[in-house]
Amino acid sequence: MDCLFCSIVDGLIPSKKVYETDDVLCFYDIAPVAPVHVLIVPKKHIDSVHQIGAEDVALVGQIHQAAQAVADQLGIADSGYRLVTNCGKDAGQEVFHLHYHLVGGGRLSHFGQTDIHTG
Ligand code: AMP
Repeated sequence: MDCLFCSIVDGLIPSKKVYETDDVLCFYDIAPVAPVHVLIVPKKHIDSVHQIGAEDVALVGQIHQAAQAVADQLGIADSGYRLVTNCGKDAGQEVFHLHYHLVGGGRLSHFGQTDIHTG
């Protein structure tokens, strides 16, 4: 399967690694939208959050633990951060391998009603 994040997990495409476990890889986003912008990626290929199965429940916990570790490591656990995953076209998902954006390191605009675009 031709998947960008599978290629990064396999080391075929380089990434700037922040944190890694047996099941999760965390690396800097190539086009950061905040002072800290790290992608939290399960090594197992899952298309998006909507394809997470019952067998993946433990993995979802590991993803969140990895996010905590990254925030601790980068010193933004106390100041706060946002953890977000885009699912599908309307959310603007570009890479169809489940990943969470961990963004922080500065005051973020509030995520809410104003993010909805019509037309
Ligand atoms: P999404 O739109 O939620 O699918 O997010 C995909 C993210 O992957 C975007 O923020 C891109 O900047 C990021 N990205 C694309 N290619 C790479 C790469 N080679 N290394 C790191 N991040 C990447």
